[in-house]
Amino acid sequence: MNPPESDVPERTLDPEDWSETRRLGHELLDELFDWLETVRERPAWQPVPADARTRLDVPLPYESTGIAEILADLKQDILPYPTGNVHPRFFGWVHGTGTVEGALAELAAGFMNCNVGGREHAAVYVERQVIAWLTELFGFPQDSTGLLVSGTSMATVLGLAVARERVAPGKVRSEGVAASPRPLVAYASAEAHVSVRKALELLGLGGNALRRVPVDESFRMDPRVLMEMVAADRSAGYEPFCVVGTAGTVTTGAIDDLAAVADICSAEGLWLHVDAAFGGALMLCEDLRPGLAGIERADSLAFDLHKWMHVPYDAGCVLVRDAEAHRATFSADRDYLSRFERGTGAGDPWYTDFGPELSRGFRALKVWVTLRAHGLDRLGEMVEKNCEQAAYLAARVAERDGWVVAAPVGLNIICFRVEPPADSGLDPDELSREIVMRVQESGVAVPSTVEVGGHVCIRVAITNHRTQRADLDLFLDAVEAACRDILEDGPQ
Ligand SMILES: *Cc1c(COP(=O)(O)O)cnc(C)c1O
Repeated sequence: MNPPESDVPERTLDPEDWSETRRLGHELLDELFDWLETVRERPAWQPVPADARTRLDVPLPYESTGIAEILADLKQDILPYPTGNVHPRFFGWVHGTGTVEGALAELAAGFMNCNVGGREHAAVYVERQVIAWLTELFGFPQDSTGLLVSGTSMATVLGLAVARERVAPGKVRSEGVAASPRPLVAYASAEAHVSVRKALELLGLGGNALRRVPVDESFRMDPRVLMEMVAADRSAGYEPFCVVGTAGTVTTGAIDDLAAVADICSAEGLWLHVDAAFGGALMLCEDLRPGLAGIERADSLAFDLHKWMHVPYDAGCVLVRDAEAHRATFSADRDYLSRFERGTGAGDPWYTDFGPELSRGFRALKVWVTLRAHGLDRLGEMVEKNCEQAAYLAARVAERDGWVVAAPVGLNIICFRVEPPADSGLDPDELSREIVMRVQESGVAVPSTVEVGGHVCIRVAITNHRTQRADLDLFLDAVEAACRDILEDGPQ
C-alpha cells in the first residue's frame, strides 16, 4: 500500500473554527445560568409537547449538523422540559436538587474526559480523597475501600457481591452460587427498597432469597422477628448470609435500629449491608446523626450523593469495611491491565479492582467540588431545614378537616390523604391519585403517591435545598384547589 498523499488533510473532530465554537459555549453557559437562576418562575413540571417529541425523533445522523443548530434544538425542545427536581416545589419520590458548582464540575470533567478505572493521574487522587472523606464521615475504619458508582442500586449490587463472595471465599467467583453448600438467603425489612431484591436477582440468588422482615408501627424492621427468621431458615436448610438494614425508607423515611441489627449480625456471623440512599445525609447533622447509630458497624454501605447531598446526577457510593474482601471480589490480572512502578500504568490499586467496570468517568470531581464549595455544615443545614419543613407541612395538614397524616413524620417525608365527603361517591384512593395528577399537571408542584397501610397517599419528600416554607403553602393551596375541582367534577 502506498503511503497517503501528504497534501490530503488529516481531519480531527476538533472545531474548525475554535473561536466561534468558544463563543457558542460561552453563550450556552450564560443561558444555563439564566435558566437556573429563574427556575422558580417556571412550572415545577410540564409535559413534553407533541411537537417537541416529534422534533426529538430524528433519523440516525450520518451527516454532521452544526453545533449552533444543535444547541438551538437543546434550548427549544429539551431544556424547557426537565424532570423538575431543580425546582423549589419538586417533592416527588426522592430527588436531589443539584448545585451550580456541581454543574461546573461536570463541565470541567467533560473537558478533561478522564478515565478513572485506574492508572496514574490526578482524577484518581480526587476519587481517593472523596472516598477518604466519606469513610471518615460515616465512621468507617480508615483502611476501608470504596467506589463511586451510578447510585445506591448499583452500590447495593456491589456490597452484596462482596457479601456473597465471603460465603465461600475464592470459590463463588469461579463456581458461582453453587459454591455455597446450601441456598443463600438475605434479610431486609418489608419496607426495604426494591433495589435490594434486584441486586439478589442479578447476583444469581433469585428474588425469593430475600426474606422480608415485618416492621413495627414506625415502619422499622423488627429485630426480634429477624432473629426468629434466621433461626427458622437455618433449621430449614438455608444459608443466611446477609442482612440489609435501611437508613431512611423510601415510603416514610423510617430508619431501622441499626445497632440492634448490627448486634444480631455479629452474633450470627452475618454480613451487614446498609442502604442509606438518602438517609446517610443525616450524618451531616449533629442533631440527627444519632438516629443512624450503628451505621459505622456495617460491612458494606450504599448511599447516594445525588439525593440529599445535591451532587448532580449520577453519583452514589459503596464503602466496604474489609478492603481485602472488596478487592478479592473484583480484581483480575490481565497483562493489558498490568501495574507498574512508574509511568502511566502506576497508581495501584486501581478502581477497576473494586467493581465490575473498567472505564469509569470522573464522577469524583463533582463530589469533590460540591462538598468543598458548600461545606458539610451547610449541606447539613439543608437536611435539617427539609426535616423542619416536613414537620411544618404535617402540622398544616393536620389542622385541616378531613386531612389525615398517614405515617409518623420522623424525617423529611410526609404521607397524607384527604378523606372525601361521605356523600361524594369518591373513592379515597382515587382521590389521592387524582389530586397528585392535577397538582403535577398544574405545574405548581410535584408530589407523588405511595401506599401506606393499604391506602394510597399523597407523598411529599423534601430533599430540596431550594424549598422555602412559602412553597409548601403554595403546594397546600394547589392540593385544596385540586380537591375542590375534583369534588365539583364528581366521580368519573
Ligand atoms: C433512591 C433509593 C434507592 C436507589 O438508589 P438509586 O440511586 O436510585 O439507585 C435505594 N434505596 C433507597 C432507600 C432509596 O431512597
